[in-house]
Amino acid sequence: MSDVRNVIIIGSGPAGYTAALYTARASLKPLVFEGAVTAGGALMNTTDVENFPGFQDGIMGPELMDNMRAQAERFGAELVPDDIVAADLAGEIKTVTDTSGTVHRAKAVIVATGSQHRKLGLPNEDALSGRGVSWCATCDGFFFKNQDIAVIGGGDTAMEEATFLSRFAKSVTVVHRRDTLRASKAMQERAFADPKITFVWDSEVAEIQGDPKLSGLKLRNLKTGELSDLSVTGLFIAIGHDPRTELFKGQLDLDDEGYLKVTAPSTRTNLTGVFGAGDVVDHTYRQAITAAGTGCAAALDAERYLAALA
Ligand code: FAD
Repeated sequence: MSDVRNVIIIGSGPAGYTAALYTARASLKPLVFEGAVTAGGALMNTTDVENFPGFQDGIMGPELMDNMRAQAERFGAELVPDDIVAADLAGEIKTVTDTSGTVHRAKAVIVATGSQHRKLGLPNEDALSGRGVSWCATCDGFFFKNQDIAVIGGGDTAMEEATFLSRFAKSVTVVHRRDTLRASKAMQERAFADPKITFVWDSEVAEIQGDPKLSGLKLRNLKTGELSDLSVTGLFIAIGHDPRTELFKGQLDLDDEGYLKVTAPSTRTNLTGVFGAGDVVDHTYRQAITAAGTGCAAALDAERYLAALA
């Protein structure tokens, strides 16, 4: 068992690294668990990021995350490329366990584990991510001006993405597994009224095509089994997100969809000394800048909590 640290941060996306930067600059010597496979978080899987302020010409996702990492490290954050596999967060001293079984102790913990967008599970999906395949219209819509785009899903997010994308796109085709939408009535009406949006019902994506960029989809009608081609250069997958909170179930309060609950506008969870930041808390905005913003807030909340203990 290790010494008691001031603060342990779980997660290395914009929220985790920003929390690391702030707590490091406050001389709290944070210990950051970055994750074994995906250090750097969701932006490691994308290409151009054009909406993170401060980069006039945009920046590649991995480069942005390398910069954040280096900035946190420069001020003394200790970064560990490993997963946390267990956590006991209830007491005054919190413990987390890494994959080797080593137990680490701290007075405060910042949870910044992000959320995982649901995938279709098709070959080519990852290879074409950032090359026509996207999970975020706000992030990538701009790249698809005057193009033909497909949106997969039938909930509020899918309708929001479709109506947002129709501002830029030549056409938007919504592909949905059923013959009715799950989205709220208002969202549905807005999508139905949009002349650029058409619907393909009772259908799923059977194949994502293109090399090195997306060129089209093969669709399967789930009622007839019939296959058809859809020529698109953009594919937005909007079938939901899973916040990474399994580790904390039974300890931290989660909402119905599994997101970490905090007492907004603070980042405090139901357990004293435990703070939440980034997409693991947020199902509304889900942007790098908002994740970084709440990472900063969590660091300041942790700093104040630790100061009050002293
Ligand atoms: P994440 O970035 O998801 O990071 C979470 C981290 O926690 C990961 O590193 C993971 O390994 C780690 N982790 C999870 N569980 C554990 C554990 N048990 N132990 C240790 N570590 C753990 N936003 C924009 O603003 N602009 C864009 O252009 C943009 N493009 C995007 C493109 C793609 C393809 C995707 C998927 C997202 C994009 N986003 C964009 C959204 C943005 O990436 C997210 O909003 C942001 O990364 C959320 O940051 P986060 O720190 O909360 O979580």
